[in-house]
This record gives sequence, C-alpha cells and structure tokens, in this order.
Amino acid sequence: MVHWSPFVVSFNKRYPWVQLAGHAGNFKAGDYGRILKKLCPREQQCLERLMQDSLRPHVPAYFGLSQRDGECYNQMEDLLAGFETPSIMDCKMGVRTYLEEELEQARQRPRLRRDMYEKMVAVEPGAPTPEEHAQRAVLKPRYMQWREALSSSATLGFRIEGIKKADGTCSTNFKTTRLPEQVVQALGDFVDGDRTILTNYLGCLKDLRAALEQSEFFHTHEVVGSSLLFVHDRTGLAKVWMIDFGKTVPLARGQTLTHRLPWVEGNREDGYLWGLDNLITIFSTMEQD
Ligand code: ATP
Ligand code: MG
Ligand code: MG
Repeated sequence: MVHWSPFVVSFNKRYPWVQLAGHAGNFKAGDYGRILKKLCPREQQCLERLMQDSLRPHVPAYFGLSQRDGECYNQMEDLLAGFETPSIMDCKMGVRTYLEEELEQARQRPRLRRDMYEKMVAVEPGAPTPEEHAQRAVLKPRYMQWREALSSSATLGFRIEGIKKADGTCSTNFKTTRLPEQVVQALGDFVDGDRTILTNYLGCLKDLRAALEQSEFFHTHEVVGSSLLFVHDRTGLAKVWMIDFGKTVPLARGQTLTHRLPWVEGNREDGYLWGLDNLITIFSTMEQD
C-alpha cells in the first residue's frame, strides 16, 4: 500500500509527500526541504559515512539526528523537493533481501511467522511446504526467499516495490513482476513511453555504477534491502538516488565484496551491481526500441 503522507511538506511550494514502502509511522516532515526517518543506528552510521564517500551525490544529504515528540529521527534531504508533481519509483536492489545474520538468527532462535505465512498463501496458496501448512507459519528468511523468487530479485537482481505516477495512480502490486517483459512493461508505463526520461534515467544509472565501482564505502559493506528511488517530472528532469540503509552493514576489516558474484552463504555477496547491470541493460534496450 502506498502511504499518502498525513503531512504536507512545506517548501517553496506545498505538496503531499509520498512514501512507497515501509511503515506509515516511520516518517515525519522535517524543516524546509527535509524529512525525518525514525532512527535506525545502523542507517545513521551509513549516512554519516556516505557523507564522506564518493557516493555522496547519489544519496540524500544527511543532517544528523533530530528529536520530535520524544522520538529520535535521522534528518535527511527530501528527494522530491526539487520536482514539479513528481512520478516516483522504488526499486529494491540485490538478489538477497535479508542479511546473512538474519539467516543465522532464524536457525538459532527460529521465530515462526504467522503473518508471513498468511501473506504467502494469499498470493500463492501452494507455496508453503506441508510442514509450513501444518504450523500455519514460516520463518522470515524462507518468506524473503519466496518473495525473491516470485519477483525479479532472484533472476535479475532488483525488483520494483512501488510506483506513483504524476497523474495520481499508484501501485505496490508488483510482487509477481518477474520476467524481463513484465519489468519492461512496468517501466514503460512508469515513464509513459517518454524517451527523454528514459535517456536521462539511463545516464543517472551509468553515473551511479561508475561511482559505486569507485566507492570505498560500497566495497566494504554488504548492501541488503536498499532501494534506488527514481524521480522524474514532466519538465524532463529525471534522477536516481540510493536510499534505505537499515540493512547495510560493514564487512570485517580487510574484507571486500564484488557485488556481482553469486551468493553462497558465508561470502556475503548481495548481487547489487549485478542487478544494476541488468537494470542498465533493460533501460538501454527500451531506449533503443
Ligand atoms: P522498508 O525497509 O520497508 O523498505 P523503510 O521504513 O526503511 O522501509 P525507506 O525504504 O527508506 O523506508 O523509505 C520508504 C519510502 O519513503 C521510499 O520508497 C520513498 O517513497 C520514501 N522516501 C524514503 N526516503 C526518502 C527521501 N530521502 N526523500 C523522498 N522520499 C523518500
Ligand atoms: Mg525501503
Ligand atoms: Mg528499510
């Protein structure tokens, strides 16, 4: 479900802020052109480090912590602020959407999730194993793996989480958008077939890839559950940023990732760059068609 935010961000103009993923209560309006996201210390550490990294232009500017009503928030740039009635897409990157440590926790302290079982049978009644049906519950990594295989995460290294278009239509109904043709269809609809927007997005994605390949931060972190936020408007302005670092964790000293090699438990590879390569290939094909 898309959250139409209860707050209106006041900038030089007023517009309703849009949240395509996450819990509705996680965000608040900040001061002038800023938003507040409920504090996650891990994300705070990432945002601090990213402000010192070559990836800085590709993430929301970070302004430190802020207290509101007894709660602590990370204060960051509102990426929608520079747009005129923007169209927005959240694309979750990587082949794996849970941390290796979550897998370990699920083994050591298994927590049966009835809510996730219910979400599973609602989409694919035959998906749970006989044992899962009997307990009417699944473990979290099992649910996450099912989501990865159902969508394009497992086969393309990214998936569309939500789209809100300038005309007001919005959808988070992409759980089963898996095949390249389905992805192309969804992306084509998002840009309304506008080639200038496609070209501008493609340029952003290529710049981002070059920056990622140079980034000290990126080489030394496992980046899981992070998204690319695509934003464009009818003036032709189109930009892409990396967001959501709640599951981005530093590797042990001296360890690095390629972000392209297949994941085997223990290597911590997340498939982020492999997914970005595939996204770039898809945008390139669409731009040429
Ligand atoms: P989840 O982990 O379930 O994805 P979350 O609570 O960690 O959710 P985010 O993924 O960071 O939240 O953000 C949720 C949504 O809020 C994004 O899809 C996007 O629509 C919006 N959003 C997040 N950060 C920004 C930002 N800096 N500027 C504008 N919009 C943002
Ligand atoms: Mg997210
Ligand atoms: Mg998150």
